[in-house]
Amino acid sequence: MNQVPRTPAGSLRKQHAGSSVRLEGWVNRRRDHGDLVFIDLRDRSGIAQIVFDAQFLPSPEILERAKELRAEFVLEVIGEVVPRDGGAVNAELPSGEVEVRATALTILNRSDTPPFPIEDGVKASEDLRLKYRYLDLRRPEMTAKFVLRSQVAFRIREILHRDGFLEVETPILTKSTPEGARDFLVPSRNQQGEFYALPQSPQLFKQLLMVSGLERYYQIARCFRDEDLRADRQPEFTQVDIEMSFPDEEQIFELIERLFVAVFPASGISCPVPFRRISYDEAMERYGVDRPDTRFGLELGTLDVSMSPSEILRKAETVKGFAVPNGSAFPRKRLDELEAAAKSLGAGGLIWIKTAAEAGAPWNSNAKKMLDDATLASIRKGLVVHDGDLVVVVGGKKKTVNDVLSTLRVQVAREEKLIPEGRYEFLWVTGFPLLEWHEEDGRWYAMHHPFTSPHPEDVELLESDPGKVRARAYDIVLNGMELGGGSIRIHRPDIQARVFSRLGIQAEEARAKFGFLLDAFRFGAPPHGGIALGLDRILMILSRSPSIRDVIAFPKTASGSCLMTDSPGPVSDDQLRELGISLAKPRISPL
Ligand code: ASP
Repeated sequence: MNQVPRTPAGSLRKQHAGSSVRLEGWVNRRRDHGDLVFIDLRDRSGIAQIVFDAQFLPSPEILERAKELRAEFVLEVIGEVVPRDGGAVNAELPSGEVEVRATALTILNRSDTPPFPIEDGVKASEDLRLKYRYLDLRRPEMTAKFVLRSQVAFRIREILHRDGFLEVETPILTKSTPEGARDFLVPSRNQQGEFYALPQSPQLFKQLLMVSGLERYYQIARCFRDEDLRADRQPEFTQVDIEMSFPDEEQIFELIERLFVAVFPASGISCPVPFRRISYDEAMERYGVDRPDTRFGLELGTLDVSMSPSEILRKAETVKGFAVPNGSAFPRKRLDELEAAAKSLGAGGLIWIKTAAEAGAPWNSNAKKMLDDATLASIRKGLVVHDGDLVVVVGGKKKTVNDVLSTLRVQVAREEKLIPEGRYEFLWVTGFPLLEWHEEDGRWYAMHHPFTSPHPEDVELLESDPGKVRARAYDIVLNGMELGGGSIRIHRPDIQARVFSRLGIQAEEARAKFGFLLDAFRFGAPPHGGIALGLDRILMILSRSPSIRDVIAFPKTASGSCLMTDSPGPVSDDQLRELGISLAKPRISPL
């Protein structure tokens, strides 16, 4: 049995000199100098140098065994902490003032040569790292991300617990929860032909917990959304999911600000509260998007082109633009690229105007026929334009214009290096509309989800002027990224039914899908509301990771596969038979 407790390798310091220690960990590096063998021993806490010195070893056989050690062998070492001579001190290692003079060595396990070195800044491809994820996570920079993740989750739990929130688990095998994505389905064996859906969020359950009278709920909840993956998306991700009874927006803002203050500054990100608030309308007008990056200018403005010689421009639903400081110096190639980018984003075209470097000098544009001096003057009035600036203009449908310009704004800011490094601007976006009209299928969609409460003053507009109904919804945004969102909910069955009907969900369908919620609302549902924060995104920012995959222990690739376990994978014919499922397209190789 172990007499001496295990000491973390990274914890050794000068003051430990003279003590006996027992370390367990992995061989990070071995240097063989004949009678002296040095091992850098790594464990989760860091690295310690071990020296096997023939002079101090009780038997020469230990030195022989030390010579056999290779990278990633797992060892137990017993020895004495000794100070290093001045010249041998390693200032880069926290334990670098001491080393452990070994007196005993046990090889607990051997290791094949790893497919990539277990060190920071590794050059291996991400695919290789994901295939051997357990080795990738052994690298100190990756380990540190999961130490941070655990600390952040702990801090959040601590605060919520102190505030009287109860941690409650909600089902994973459930019924569809509409959050605007496709469901992952799980076939039922007992009820063949029927399916569970994995939750897109615990939305309905957390609302039902409020009907249950639990008053304050939270969960660090896994959510599943079957969407086409983008760089910052995963099919399963984690939310800090919160709901409370009898809240108002202010209480939720204050809580979230407190949670952020507890986690961001600890990672060197200042987080002054209260956060700035911006209305949805203002965000759309000035930035063209509801999650604006406010760290730089290039703000959009609506332009008056009523005097334009061009009928196309005059008739456009909206015309907006932004000015790029000193952009008149852009070479033609860049302007062509901007125009191509605008078109690929759905714009009919893009007008660029090079203002003259001095007042009165001639200006230039790719759309001279659509402009004259008077139109240019009125365009300049809609924006802050200095002589020598480039003005970028897009006209068309409001949604397209905003989509295009908000994307170009960020693209140009990146290219022009206008985004200040190390700046973090937190923002509440409020005053969202409840509904948005989708041209493609000619119907209203919930902007957040169908359970969001309309503003009490606007309820009567649900039937007469749905587009005007404001929602009691809010998003928390950081540097152009949505970190979370939530709302005060509907808690009355009649209003919920009216919203469903506005969304084209007929009474019968509403009953089939959400009957349990409508029923619950008939039994004294309290007013309630909440929010969900994207924990993975928050961790990505806190750990300054380029990809969300870096902060998820076992993430999926962009095509939704796990390269380590090789999932998704086929199942046996027997399993399919039990489920009553036959494949329309039989798989190529039978199991
Ligand atoms: N359920 C919402 C979401 O997952 C968040 C909320 O409304 O609390 O986005």
